[in-house]
Amino acid sequence: MIIEGFYVTEKGVKKYGRISFNKKGIITDITSKKGRSDIKFSKYSLIFPGFVDIHVHAREDRTKEWNYKEDFKTAGEAAVNGGVTAFMEMPNTPEPVLKSEHVKSRQSLARKSKVPVVIACGINKNSRPVPGVNNYKVYLTKSVGDLYFEDTKDFARQLPLYRNYRVHVHCEDHKIIEWDPLERPAKAEVKAIREVAKLAKKHKVKVHICHVSTAAGAKLARKGKLSFEVTPHHLYFTIEDRKKDPLIKMNPPVRTKKDRNELIKLFKAGKIDVLATDHAPHTLDEKQSANPSGVPELDTYGPFVAWLIKEKKVPLKIIVNACANAPSKILGLNQGTIKKGMDASFTVLNLKKPIKITKEMLKTKSGWSPFEDITFPGRVEATIVRGKIYRSKAR
Ligand SMILES: [Zn+2]
Repeated sequence: MIIEGFYVTEKGVKKYGRISFNKKGIITDITSKKGRSDIKFSKYSLIFPGFVDIHVHAREDRTKEWNYKEDFKTAGEAAVNGGVTAFMEMPNTPEPVLKSEHVKSRQSLARKSKVPVVIACGINKNSRPVPGVNNYKVYLTKSVGDLYFEDTKDFARQLPLYRNYRVHVHCEDHKIIEWDPLERPAKAEVKAIREVAKLAKKHKVKVHICHVSTAAGAKLARKGKLSFEVTPHHLYFTIEDRKKDPLIKMNPPVRTKKDRNELIKLFKAGKIDVLATDHAPHTLDEKQSANPSGVPELDTYGPFVAWLIKEKKVPLKIIVNACANAPSKILGLNQGTIKKGMDASFTVLNLKKPIKITKEMLKTKSGWSPFEDITFPGRVEATIVRGKIYRSKAR
C-alpha cells in the first residue's frame, strides 16, 4: 500500500512524498520521488504519525457492569473516529485491575478494539508489580474499591517497588478533597504534585502526572522533571463554561481563565509532554441526574488538535511530540514518528474543512460530547492503524 501527500517529520517539517507499507503494517519506504500511489490525500491534508491517547476509560471488564457506558468495541470506534491509533486503558473498573488475571482478562476483551490497547495496572497498599506490565496508575484520592491511597505515607512505601516502571499519578490531595468535594480546589492538585515530585526524586521512579489542570501544578511537575499530560478540556474550558454547562464536570475540574491560558502557553512552548483525553464516558441520563465526573473525548481528539494548530498556532513539531512521539514512547509502541520500520499508523487531518461537533457524528456509546455545537477548524480525514485504513465518511 502506498499513500501520498504532505506528511510531518519528527522535527515538525512538512514534506511531500509517498509512504509505502507492507501487509504486516510496517513502513517500508518513504520517498519524495514521483510514482504510483493507492491513496492521494489533498493538499489541505496533513499526515501525522498516529496520535496516541495514554488516558482512556473504556469501562469494560469481565463483570460487564459498566458496558452500558462504553466497551472496547465502541471505544475503539470512537478512537478511530477521532484519529487516535492506540490508547492506554485505566484500571478503575468495577473490578479494579491489580493482578495478572485482571490484566489478562481485560487484554482479551480489548481485542474487540480497532486500535491497539495497552492495559494499565493499578497500585494500592498491598499491590505488587505484574509481569509484563510497564505502566501503572495511582489514585491519591478516592477511586473504585480500594484502588487509591488515603495517606501519602502508604504511597511512599509502595512507590520504590515500581522503580523499573512508569507510574501515572492522579494528583489531588485526599484530605483537601474530602474537606471540599464540590470545589476540588486547585491547592489539592498543587499539594499532591509537590509531594509526588519529592517522592519520585527520592526513590528514582519515572512518575507521570495525569491531567494537570493548573499553571502552578504544571510548573511544579516541570521543576521536578516529571513527565505530565494535559487534557483538551483543561486547554479549552474554564469555570465560567462549567457554570453554564453542568455536564462539564470532571476530576480535576476545569479552572480559571488564567490557568487555561497559561496551560496553552506552556503547551505551545513544548513544555507539556503529552495531550491525553481522560476519555471518561457516562450516559447522558447519568450526567443529567447524579452527574458523575468525567466526559467522553476520544471522538474529538483530531478536531481538537486542528484547533490547536489553526486557532492557537501550536507548531507542528509540538503536535507530533505531544500527540504521537512522547505518548508512544511512554507506552513502548513502535510508532510516533514516520520512519522506515515503524508501524504504519497515521492520523490524517484536513485543516481546511471545519467540523461542527454533533451527537450524530460520535461513536462513543455514551453518545454525547462536551464539545457539542462547537466548530473545530479541521477534521480527521483518515485514521490508519498498523496499515489498516479507515477513511472518514464526512471527509
Ligand atoms: Zn482518568
